[in-house]
Amino acid sequence: MSRAHIIGAGLAGLSAAVELAGNGVEIILYEQAVKAGGRARSFHDSHLDREIDNGNHLLLSGNHSALEFLDIINARQRLIGPGNARFDFADLETNDRWTINFNRGPVPLWVLYEQSRVPGTSMMDYVSGLKLLTAGNRTVASLFGEQGQMYRRFWEPFSVAVLNTLPHEAVARLLLPVIRETLARGAEYSMPMVAKNGLSDTFVDPALKWLERRKADIRMGQRITGFEHNGKTITAIKTARSGEPVKADDVVVLATPPWVTPTLLEDITAPQAFAPIVNLHFQVEGFEGEKSQTPILGLVGSPAHWLFVRGDIISVTVSAAFDLADKPAKEIAAIIWPDVAKAYDLDGQTIPPVRVIKEQRATFKTTPGELQRRPPAKTVYKNLTLAGDWTDTGLPATIEGAIRSGVTAVKALES
Ligand SMILES: Cc1cc2nc3c(=O)[nH]c(=O)nc-3n(C[C@H](O)[C@H](O)[C@H](O)COP(=O)(O)OP(=O)(O)OC[C@H]3O[C@@H](n4cnc5c(N)ncnc54)[C@H](O)[C@@H]3O)c2cc1C
Repeated sequence: MSRAHIIGAGLAGLSAAVELAGNGVEIILYEQAVKAGGRARSFHDSHLDREIDNGNHLLLSGNHSALEFLDIINARQRLIGPGNARFDFADLETNDRWTINFNRGPVPLWVLYEQSRVPGTSMMDYVSGLKLLTAGNRTVASLFGEQGQMYRRFWEPFSVAVLNTLPHEAVARLLLPVIRETLARGAEYSMPMVAKNGLSDTFVDPALKWLERRKADIRMGQRITGFEHNGKTITAIKTARSGEPVKADDVVVLATPPWVTPTLLEDITAPQAFAPIVNLHFQVEGFEGEKSQTPILGLVGSPAHWLFVRGDIISVTVSAAFDLADKPAKEIAAIIWPDVAKAYDLDGQTIPPVRVIKEQRATFKTTPGELQRRPPAKTVYKNLTLAGDWTDTGLPATIEGAIRSGVTAVKALES
């Protein structure tokens, strides 16, 4: 292969482009939007006068595909974290606060001591994780039962964050690869990390610059409308304005979202049900985020799930936000702010300036039916493969899954 057409400049498409360009392949990258990044992007918010992300994105130090990608584009240093595997929680119903501090190495010594466990849990509660090995298609709620603090304070918040699906629908077994690659390997692989100056600054802009230096032809604002093919090989790419021939030695990586891909190529199955994530960015005058003891805080007993502090901005993530996503922004802020204020001991009466971002199709829903609709990278077309967090990566729809899917799509072209 000498030339590759990459369609979609989300993280999956960027990952495929970087992988191919690194092998000396000429790249044409098509992106319908004016900015790259897809569901992981930053923008300037004029209301807050800040660069903000469409959503808070948390990575763990065991997300090796994401870190390898950042190493290639020389941007790993743009991720920051506490440098340890510490997770702070507050239960707003009981006012309990606790910290989970994973120890180094794969033996979870921290569960042996009551003071380091989640309050209200016993050592045996942690053995319940083994149920994941034989979970089949059982949901998180049915596998772990909906009783007890282990469920309420660990399995429920963890699964909602990772699977972006409510526990009574979410397929529990998809937690297993995440646990295997991160928490089960100990602190070295479980450290939380976030983009220091935003997602675009960390993942997107360095990738585009890296590609530009390798003479990639990056076509922003160019929407692909379909393909010409002979049943076995893609022969041309159709765009809104004209088209681009796909030469005999060319390859195509289709890295568009699941709701687009089946409209571009017949016979591709893709998840059809999606789950929203709502993010709120509160600008709190005088709040000194740098001094916060809990810059990343998980909430239990609250409609808000995770709080991220950056300077005077407190950002809130609500995953599987079916109850919120259709409400007006003002109403959402009024529901969420009192809990944020409680968590950080602030005035709950006056809602500070806020930007509410609703991503209605943040990820596919992790239900048995939707998982069955995830296709492999390989297609019936020998010169076209699929990439995206929704393809059958074996992982939930995450940055790690998206970036790994790009590499897998390239390998599938080579095999
Ligand atoms: C609010 C929110 C919070 C999240 N939080 C986390 C988190 O904490 N941790 C984590 O790991 N993951 C998180 N995720 C998931 C993560 O963002 C996604 O898994 C990842 O960004 C998906 O990348 P992708 O390349 O597969 O798809 P996309 O980002 O959807 O990329 C597809 C690209 O294709 C382009 N495109 C579409 N149609 C066409 C066309 N016809 N022609 C050309 N281009 C086209 C799109 O514009 C887009 O740029 C979150 C997602 C959201 C929305």
